[in-house]
Amino acid sequence: MLCGICGQRMKSGKFVINTHSAGRAYSSVSWYEGENLVAESNTTKTTGLFCQNCGIIMGVFFGARQVGFTSDYSQNLDDNIDSLPKRKCPDCGTELDIDYPRCPECGYLF
Ligand SMILES: [Zn+2]
Ligand SMILES: [Zn+2]
Repeated sequence: MLCGICGQRMKSGKFVINTHSAGRAYSSVSWYEGENLVAESNTTKTTGLFCQNCGIIMGVFFGARQVGFTSDYSQNLDDNIDSLPKRKCPDCGTELDIDYPRCPECGYLF
């Protein structure tokens, strides 16, 4: 794999996460997008890549469990909300999203 910063080939090795807390039964690797926890893996040893140029260590985790949604997904949800079915106000005929409790044109209550 090439380093994303400098483009040099990264060295492959063993990536180890050291856990110093005795209180936890297991350690886990978590991937956050902003504040949202999206994926978790309970692997603590995996393939690691090291760029000698930049001093970057990257761990490669397979089989991570997705526990949340990325912002791409929320974006899709928003799109779905935008395409809600429409209905016509029986009073004035204005086309409205189906979740409108009241017609904004004439005030008709559904
Ligand atoms: Zn690099
Ligand atoms: Zn109306």
